[in-house]
Amino acid sequence: MKLKAIRDQEGVVCHHCGSKEHYWKKDKWQYECKICKARTTLTSGTIMHGSQMPLRYWFVSIHLLTSTKKSFSAKELQRQLGHKYYEPIWTMLHKLRFAMGKRDSQYELSGQIELDEGFFSTEVQTENKGKPLKQGRGSQKKTKVLVMAESKEVEGEVTKKGKPRKVGFIKMQVIPDLKADTINEQVVSLISDKATLITDDSTSYVNLGNIVQQHQAQVIPKEKIGEILPWVHISIGNAKSLLLNIHHRVKPEFLQSYLNEFCYKFNRRYFGEAIFDRVLLVCATSKNDFRYRIR
Ligand SMILES: [Zn+2]
Repeated sequence: MKLKAIRDQEGVVCHHCGSKEHYWKKDKWQYECKICKARTTLTSGTIMHGSQMPLRYWFVSIHLLTSTKKSFSAKELQRQLGHKYYEPIWTMLHKLRFAMGKRDSQYELSGQIELDEGFFSTEVQTENKGKPLKQGRGSQKKTKVLVMAESKEVEGEVTKKGKPRKVGFIKMQVIPDLKADTINEQVVSLISDKATLITDDSTSYVNLGNIVQQHQAQVIPKEKIGEILPWVHISIGNAKSLLLNIHHRVKPEFLQSYLNEFCYKFNRRYFGEAIFDRVLLVCATSKNDFRYRIR
């Protein structure tokens, strides 16, 4: 049993007395504390804790989430599992994405980093319904996302498009606005202060030079964007086509969750089948603090 193997390896801590010594009660399929005899289930203290969903569902979901670059909808999973209710399936998937995001938030980006904003189509928030729609970037149908990609110049090579760049890790963070303070706060928490940032000359980025070691801001004509900020824009394009085609009418408050999944998988694109075990490990070692419900 994979989950038990992971929990044994990570160590089970007694929720009652804090002891790390346990017996495995095979008949009960639970741990028993050697000191105080308190029982711990396989899922307690993990994101699966308190879920009504059988473990098999979690495994199928993780398998589906990790076996393809594509995402899939709760409806599709519900159909595959043949489960009667939609909401618990939906919640389970979001818990998985939440855990993926939490895992990625433990790493900060470093080196040369492209940074720009993306505008993702989302549903109009309930409080804005009925208000006249604004056009373009400020539209209530668009959610702003700060997108960052580690992007290293490949030594020695020059092509027609300039120097090719190799992508490392990426991050995508939903932001409420494009104010310089908002951007600064995100950069402080997501990026190493030793990094070099490459951006356009937007006023949102005026203070970045004070936060990271180097900030290269430049006027970028539209046709040059793919050359100067290639990976940010490839990522935005891929995220949009992979996510929004599957999750129609994404609510703004859940966009981050889908982006977590996208980035997590992108950042582990060379892991192959090992990614299943990684996600299971993340699940077994993260607490369940996903608290949303469908409204
Ligand atoms: Zn105990």
